[in-house]
Amino acid sequence: MSTSDSKETAQRIGQLREKFVKIYGHHPEGIWRAPGRVNLIGEHTDYNLGYVLPFAIDKNALVAVRRKSQLEPDAKVLDFASTFGHGETPAITSVELDELVPGAVPGWAAYPAAVLWVLNQLEGLELTGLELLVDSDVPVGSGLSSSHALEVGTIVALNDLYNLGLAETDMARLTQRAENEFVGAPTGIMDQSASLMSHAGHALFLDCRSMESEAVPLPLIEQEAVVLVIDTKVEHSHVDGGYAARRDSCEQAAAALGVASLREVSNVAELEALEDPVVRRRAKHIVTENQRVLDTVRVLRDGDLKAVGQLLCQSHESMRDDYEISSQELDAAVEAAMAAGAIGARMTGGGFGGSAIALISVQQIAHVSQAVETAFERAGYVRPAIFTVIADEGAGKA
Ligand code: ADP
Ligand code: MG
Repeated sequence: MSTSDSKETAQRIGQLREKFVKIYGHHPEGIWRAPGRVNLIGEHTDYNLGYVLPFAIDKNALVAVRRKSQLEPDAKVLDFASTFGHGETPAITSVELDELVPGAVPGWAAYPAAVLWVLNQLEGLELTGLELLVDSDVPVGSGLSSSHALEVGTIVALNDLYNLGLAETDMARLTQRAENEFVGAPTGIMDQSASLMSHAGHALFLDCRSMESEAVPLPLIEQEAVVLVIDTKVEHSHVDGGYAARRDSCEQAAAALGVASLREVSNVAELEALEDPVVRRRAKHIVTENQRVLDTVRVLRDGDLKAVGQLLCQSHESMRDDYEISSQELDAAVEAAMAAGAIGARMTGGGFGGSAIALISVQQIAHVSQAVETAFERAGYVRPAIFTVIADEGAGKA
């Protein structure tokens, strides 16, 4: 089952349409849906041109759009609004299409504006102004990629409306450029690819160098297992320094080893040539994590969830000790989930806060959730948000 058809999404679509009319005085031309994602395994490997294995989740951004006609007085103005935190009357951020330059759009509207900016540079495309309204239930700053849901929802809408014929891989690269150059977050290609290319019931095995991908079945329903998300409510931010610093270390390692990217290193022994122990540890995470993605795909094909669980735990240790992107809350979530009988658990997403995932049996949802909540309460951490997710279908017309 994909939530693209779910009752809840259908209800949100109806409400979004009404709200659009209320705010803009017109009907939208259409509504598009772009999901957030959970990364099963393969963290920080994308910008090292390695492997990732995310899946789209049943939380999504709905993006309603109407293009303006040349006859309207503000034909060249882009209007952005979001239902997020605004109750009945979302504020509108307006930007002149011709004045779109990096840094020109403050706040959240930079994400959809970034997509317009990148499309505006495509040869032979005459964009007009537009009205856009977003409604997203992807938690913000939780490492589930609410920002990419926004960008992907915008690009699939414009791809359809302007008949651009962009392939999913084109849209992934364009949104990456939008986020890197316009928003200023040096993120990789995984998040938008997951939102664009995932299939219900499957994880997306993506080679970030060739952009070849394959849908790998997740044998969760058959084995009465489920993925639990533990949102620590500690917000991470990619615009901050930690993510960029990790990226730098990887580039340094690749340069010192004389390879184009760490993807080209498959043996940890090769890393002994690296003099700086910190850079060596960072590189070790990437090299071992790439191998863990390949191993996870293999054991998933065998239906061996226990082996998947072990790889998730190894991945967490690697991020905690070698890549150093975990946090005390994320570690506590993983430890408590494992102690309560989870099959495997790890932090997911960029790190420095955000969410952890636990692979658990369906019978253990309440037990594991309770155990994590208790551990957080005892440690004096903010109460986490805990929920299960379904592997949903990638972005498209709602
Ligand atoms: P993540 O993508 O992991 O959720 P980011 O820091 O990359 O975290 O992106 C979060 C940002 O995305 C928010 O600060 C906001 O600017 C934007 N955003 C996400 N969802 C919405 C929404 N529904 N409405 C407006 N802005 C949003
Ligand atoms: Mg993001």
